[in-house]
Amino acid sequence: MPNKVIIIGGVAGGASTAARLRRLSEKDEIILLERGDYISYANCGLPYYIGGTIDEREKLFVMTPEKFKAWLNIDVRTKNEALAIDREKKEVEVKNHLTGKTYRESYDFLVLSPGAEPLRPPLPGIDSEGIFSLRTVNDTDRIYNYMQRGCPKKAIVVGAGYIGLEMAENLHHRGLEVIVVELAPQVLPPLDADMAALVQQYLRAIGIQMRLGNGVKEFHKAEGSALKVELADGEMLSADLVILSIGVKPEVKLAAEAGLEVGRGIIVTDKMQTVDPAIYALGDAVEVKNLVTGKPAVIPLAGPANKQGRIVANNIAGREDLYNGTQGTSVLKIFDMTVATTGVNERILKDAGVDFHNIIIHPNSHAGYYPGATPLSLKMLFSPEGKILGAQAVGYSGVEKRIDVLATALRSRLTVADLQELELTYAPPFSSAKDPVNMAGFVASNMLNGDYQTIDAASLINNPSFNHQILDVRETEEAELGKIPGAINIPLGELRSRLGELKRTGGIVTYCSVGLRSYLAYRILKLNGFEQVFNLNGGYRIFSALNNEISNKGDDHTMNSNNQNIGTASVSPDSAIKLDLCGLQCPGPIMQVFRRINEMPEGAVLDVCATDPGFASDIASWCQRTGNTLLNRGHDGKGFTAQIRKGHDQVLNPVEQGPAAWQHKAGAFTDEHGRHGAKNDPHGYEE
Ligand code: FAD
Repeated sequence: MPNKVIIIGGVAGGASTAARLRRLSEKDEIILLERGDYISYANCGLPYYIGGTIDEREKLFVMTPEKFKAWLNIDVRTKNEALAIDREKKEVEVKNHLTGKTYRESYDFLVLSPGAEPLRPPLPGIDSEGIFSLRTVNDTDRIYNYMQRGCPKKAIVVGAGYIGLEMAENLHHRGLEVIVVELAPQVLPPLDADMAALVQQYLRAIGIQMRLGNGVKEFHKAEGSALKVELADGEMLSADLVILSIGVKPEVKLAAEAGLEVGRGIIVTDKMQTVDPAIYALGDAVEVKNLVTGKPAVIPLAGPANKQGRIVANNIAGREDLYNGTQGTSVLKIFDMTVATTGVNERILKDAGVDFHNIIIHPNSHAGYYPGATPLSLKMLFSPEGKILGAQAVGYSGVEKRIDVLATALRSRLTVADLQELELTYAPPFSSAKDPVNMAGFVASNMLNGDYQTIDAASLINNPSFNHQILDVRETEEAELGKIPGAINIPLGELRSRLGELKRTGGIVTYCSVGLRSYLAYRILKLNGFEQVFNLNGGYRIFSALNNEISNKGDDHTMNSNNQNIGTASVSPDSAIKLDLCGLQCPGPIMQVFRRINEMPEGAVLDVCATDPGFASDIASWCQRTGNTLLNRGHDGKGFTAQIRKGHDQVLNPVEQGPAAWQHKAGAFTDEHGRHGAKNDPHGYEE
């Protein structure tokens, strides 16, 4: 017998359910209720329309009600809001906002996909003009039109989650000066602090200011610029536009009022059925099972909502289908950087009382000898039995591909040992013969075999009484650019002949830039009878990023202190010597600059482009220390740029660069030479 099915919510989950159900049954009567003006639109694309990357508003609309009717025979009712559910009579009370009339509609099955609403804490002044949340097309129109009308210059984004950072990028593209305020001490909650530190380092280098570990206390109306935003620590920021992106809350009101079971979201079975067998629920509104911990979780993502829609439809059509849980696979583009994660992070594992190990590696995105390779940082969390629990990656290319492979491995319950065997695509422009995913498997397996032990950067930073010897095996010039306080520098090539300089009692922590040379040193020490040896997880790259963030408490005022002596002048590009270091990992770029400057006559100018954000933070202090002049630095859309004149002298041909020392300009520099100083190594990744 045909069913009458009412679906509440006409975007990701609701529209998917409706479309799948129609594909399974021609006879069912399907009514899609949507209180807003549009159905099935691309909410994930909204920030990019505001930023101008999506140039036409129409492109946001994946499906129109007319097409839904014509193609799928679905009765779409926009501007129709479900007000209440009468479970006994199996009826929904609906308000038609076009006519103002309320009516009742009966159902055999009811599907709830009402989504989640942006949080708006009751802060004084939060309803002032110029403060927006972003969820719907209407929100987008409001922000877009406000920007067209008022030409805002300064924006504050409150909340550094995925939507907040996407908005920060898009507002920056529109020429606004952006400050991100975040209550947590780091950006992007799915990341661990060490990986988030890499993102923060990059954002600062791009020119996005942050106030981390600091919340908004009050919004004040101001003269001239629209708003003053008072932070918890008393700092007063001015803004013409504020975006609130501090998280979302499942829309559970209808369900709760109808007596359905509700926790943090609507509670459903693995068939996505509520306690009432005639009512299904899905998407951002429901509590799901965290695939890794098995615990209830709220994970608002488009992929799960769409897939659940298919499962709900299958079950209504009588084909039993189960949802096994959400693992939280997600990806973010932030300027040129990609951040992707799957599974859980350290915080969730600790909260759940799960034992785990973690490794951080920094392979190149593809073979270092092929032009355009860029650094990629990959962290993997796994159980003592080798079960993959989560992965996080940060880089510039090939990031999401590695996380997608690891997401598949996690869902398929592969172990870290299995990762070693995965046969993944390889040719130099795409990967290395040992793909970063294989590398993660090798390193994790070494750890589980007892061949390898690490120590996390946080344990060094947060433990002032740390008393192991710290051995820096980088070249002396590298160590001079910055090292861990108290470390002894013995370059790897000299280690075998200088073992006598090391104490045999107590532990030794080895480190280099990214962890490879220090792993070789680790093995030398172990095979020479040193017992307690640890490799610094993620190398100096992670240590320096995290240490910088922790010691400065995410405060841009202290972070930028080394910017003060940067000139805002440039010399004509024609007379400067070009050095393209895109793809080279730190400290490679600084080492190359050092070598090239040595060969140059006094007063000559070097134009450098590098993709590693470490270069952006290191170059100013390097110039200061070595007596060279940093004429300017910036970001040209491809990489971080710096113009350096050899020696201390007056600035030649000063040209104003604009108010911000760091500016993001669309693609002026290419890496066609693809020069990179990386050397191949027997493990398939390069330092
Ligand atoms: P929604 O898609 O939000 O749909 C719910 C609909 O129900 C709404 O249109 C609402 O108006 C309607 N509704 C609510 N109550 C009623 C009622 N009583 N009567 C009638 N209608 C009602 N996820 C990703 O995975 N990747 C991304 O890149 C990404 N980017 C995003 C960017 C933005 C700006 C936003 C807002 C979200 C983004 N998401 C992203 C999250 C993703 O869009 C959601 O996870 C997904 O849309 C959830 O689907 P849903 O059906 O549960 O809810």
